[in-house]
Amino acid sequence: MQSNQVMPRDRSYWIAAIVSLFVLGLLALTVSLTSKIEEKSLPFDARYFVEQPAAGLESLNEQSVLALDDNLWQSFEKENLGLSERVHWIKLQTETLLVDEQYLFELNYGLLDNADVWVYAHHMSEDGSARYEQIATYSVGDTQSFYFRPIQHEQFLFPVYAETTHVTLLLKLYGEGPIKAPLRLWEKSDFIEYSGSHKLFMGLFFGYMIAMALSNLFIYATTRNPIFAVYTAYVLSIGMVAVTLHGMGFRYLWPDNIWFQERAIAFFACSTLILIITFSIQVLDLKNNSIRAFKLLKLVRYVFYALFVASFVMPYSLLLTSVLVMIACTTPVILVSSLSLAIKGNLIARYFSGAWAALLMSGIALAFENFGLYELPMDSSYLLMVGAITETLLLALALAISFSTQYKEAEEARALAVENERQAMAAKDELLQVQQESQQALEYSVEERTLELEIAMRELSEVNQELERLSAIDPLTGLMNRRYFDKRLLAETRRSRREQRILSLAMLDIDFFKKINDEHGHLAGDECLKVFASTLQENIKRPSDIICRYGGEEFVVILPATDLEGAHKLMERVRSALEQTSVNFEGKRISMTVSIGLSSKVMSNDDEQAALLAFADKLLYQAKESGRNQVIAQAYSA
Ligand code: GH3
Ligand code: MG
Ligand code: MG
Repeated sequence: MQSNQVMPRDRSYWIAAIVSLFVLGLLALTVSLTSKIEEKSLPFDARYFVEQPAAGLESLNEQSVLALDDNLWQSFEKENLGLSERVHWIKLQTETLLVDEQYLFELNYGLLDNADVWVYAHHMSEDGSARYEQIATYSVGDTQSFYFRPIQHEQFLFPVYAETTHVTLLLKLYGEGPIKAPLRLWEKSDFIEYSGSHKLFMGLFFGYMIAMALSNLFIYATTRNPIFAVYTAYVLSIGMVAVTLHGMGFRYLWPDNIWFQERAIAFFACSTLILIITFSIQVLDLKNNSIRAFKLLKLVRYVFYALFVASFVMPYSLLLTSVLVMIACTTPVILVSSLSLAIKGNLIARYFSGAWAALLMSGIALAFENFGLYELPMDSSYLLMVGAITETLLLALALAISFSTQYKEAEEARALAVENERQAMAAKDELLQVQQESQQALEYSVEERTLELEIAMRELSEVNQELERLSAIDPLTGLMNRRYFDKRLLAETRRSRREQRILSLAMLDIDFFKKINDEHGHLAGDECLKVFASTLQENIKRPSDIICRYGGEEFVVILPATDLEGAHKLMERVRSALEQTSVNFEGKRISMTVSIGLSSKVMSNDDEQAALLAFADKLLYQAKESGRNQVIAQAYSA
């Protein structure tokens, strides 16, 4: 709590000093005002008598009251006669007036319901008995329009013309509210002097209240913080209580409205309490600091709401009693909760407690005086006003601290939010960067792996091709082998069908090869096969021609797009070339011949390849049969 409060300790002493000076100045003013009253107002002897309620009987009249025995009258020392509906009589006598002089009689309690006044010249006869001669009679009170008053003034004032030095005033006071009778008798000129000073004080009070209200209203207008509006309303409301108490409301604001005059004090007391409870809850932050006090005060506020509404309809005396009882209950709750917070170190609560203590102390001093326990050096109504000023001042201070605390907290919260946002942004940026980096790394490594894979694949396919190539090659002659031949024959069959071009196929077998092997050995046979292969390669030159070793000393030649005639010539050339070739092996000359079967066809389906091959083989067989070393060519037709 302590830590987040803005006002530093050393400054609070200054504030205490200023507040004390201000309050002391006000008190001094009230003391001087009061002493002026005591000095200038004229002495008199006052006694009072309370009528006992007698059922069915009319109230006593002034004549019978004057005739009452002296023993029945009590001395009138305190102004406040309490909340009572009985009729109170006050008899006031003075023997020191100047004959033919104008005096003013003041009854300084504007809320009195009814006051009937009789002014008598008091003649003493020789036998000692008194004779009262009525000079004037007045009937005032706030059950009548303000304009009915003999002197239009916020206090009840009665002109008294002194026919003799001895004057007796008889007052009959009755009504629903409390009976109070602050009575004074003035010489006219003295009253004017006193009245000037009194108005100065009242002017100060109301000026102060209005200034506080306005300045806080402006703060509310600029900050839009509702607590300033509450405080403004509170100051206006407590000001209206004083306006009503001092009779100024009735004089200046609602002089004809008796109905409102009767209820005004309860009305403004309720609104003041509602506002001060609202203010207390907010400025002390009771919801967070003391939930019990918060709940209790909210409950009390509901009661005041009810009383506020009731103030329009409820009988006045009951209303006033309820309001007073409620105020008596509420004040300690606020003070205790505020004090307990102050003890815990809450600075706002300290000023707040001071404010309440000021009001309470003036109230207590008043109560003491009312019970006759203590004589105040100043008029009680002034003391209450000083209490109210002190209170509003300290509350304004509490409000200022609370606001600056809130402001600082809001500022800190804002700074924290900004910092958090900055950190969040930074974290986001960092994350983004990490993401980008890892993305890049991933992409790079994927690329790398892909490349490696591609290389591996390429290598693999190269190896595969090599393997393929190797597996298709006959190691002895370097020609393609039979496996390769089978694949190519199928492929060329399809191409022939697709392109409708003729395909020739030759089957070759070396004659009496067994004999060469037998006579010269297998190595010589192998050498002959190699020579035969190179003879084939030398004579068959088109890139599309395919020469394969079919097995042993048998060979096949595929001649795409070659007709039977052309192929026949080519094969004849091969046969003749071989005939003229002799193989040189270990000094011996070996010669050999070949028999060839040749056939051609424009292929029409895949199956024909086997038939074509078989037909070429059959022709080869015929060539062997017909004496070997010859080519037999014949077109194939299915
Ligand atoms: P003809 O074809 O004229 O009827 O008589 P031929 O002697 O050539 O008949 P045959 O097909 O019966 O004999 C083939 C001989 O070729 C059998 C084998 O000894 C020999 N031969 C087969 N392959 C090879 C080889 O790779 N190297 C060697 N040196 N001789 C082989
Ligand atoms: Mg053979
Ligand atoms: Mg042979």
